[in-house]
Amino acid sequence: MVTPSQTNTIDFDTAKLQRLGYSGNRTQSLRPISLAQLRQQLTLQLQTSLEVERILQLFFSTVQRLVPLDALAYQHSAGDLRLEFGERASHSAGYRLSHEGEYLGELIFRRKLRFSDEELAQLESLLASLLFPLRNALLYRSAVQKALRDPLTNTGNRIAMDQILQREVDLARRNLQPLSLLMLDLDHFKRINDQHGHSVGDEVLKAVATSLKSQLRNVDMVFRYGGEEFLVLLSGTCREAAGIVGERLRQAVLGLQCLAQGQAIDLSISIGCATLLPGESVESLLRRADSALYVAKRDGRNRLSMAG
Ligand code: GH3
Ligand code: MG
Ligand code: MG
Repeated sequence: MVTPSQTNTIDFDTAKLQRLGYSGNRTQSLRPISLAQLRQQLTLQLQTSLEVERILQLFFSTVQRLVPLDALAYQHSAGDLRLEFGERASHSAGYRLSHEGEYLGELIFRRKLRFSDEELAQLESLLASLLFPLRNALLYRSAVQKALRDPLTNTGNRIAMDQILQREVDLARRNLQPLSLLMLDLDHFKRINDQHGHSVGDEVLKAVATSLKSQLRNVDMVFRYGGEEFLVLLSGTCREAAGIVGERLRQAVLGLQCLAQGQAIDLSISIGCATLLPGESVESLLRRADSALYVAKRDGRNRLSMAG
């Protein structure tokens, strides 16, 4: 997505694209262009970004110099990616993209008018220029995602947590919206490791994370805070509602049926809940959630405690 910038910065990408003959202004009349020229231009343009969305947007607008289109849809099943440009239309031509056997997603061109054989051949030829840049952008996307995820539980890691927490606190303050945190810690987790082994402990952590995510609307807001500690960020959620969510999470984990060699594992979590105060910093909010968690542990575990 292109966000309008109000600041005095120079956008090198835009400058370069203009030099390469691309303009975002679609009403401008363009010189006729041959397939070979367009392929060359596409190859240069698509090198200007590593973002899948930007690359497909450039592809969509550039291809139109030769073959008019109403819409372009793209999806990548494994990467959980779905993009659509333009307006839906009845005629379509779909392609499954791959490069040296590597799956790169599916692309659909849509138009109100039927595509001629010549146009389809042109589109196919232009698609060849998309493969390399698209593959690189997909690799980049997956690297960024990996850098922000905890591989064991597939929740956000500390890096993601720090970034998102600061962003959400800023947003809550600006929009005068409530924001709450739940800090969760597995009870007597060391015992589970000691009795059943570390790999069973790992499976338990995964099961708990899956259970937490299944109870929440926005699964992207669950982070692995420490070894057996999770943080749930509830934006737009006041103290009372956060308490209800926390209680639901506690019950869900309590109800998990985890077995080790046919033996049931007793599982519970303690939770500290804190709601952002006016003008409060991220650090102070985290500290209060942590203190509430400490109180829940001290008072006997398997319970939720609200920060004062
Ligand atoms: P409490 O109820 O007070 O929280 O007790 P506890 O045993 O859960 O707390 P403690 O902090 O003493 O122990 C946490 C344990 O979690 C110790 C550590 O070995 C284990 N742990 C941390 N990360 C992992 C992990 O990734 N996998 C496994 N299997 N265990 C982990
Ligand atoms: Mg702990
Ligand atoms: Mg613990």
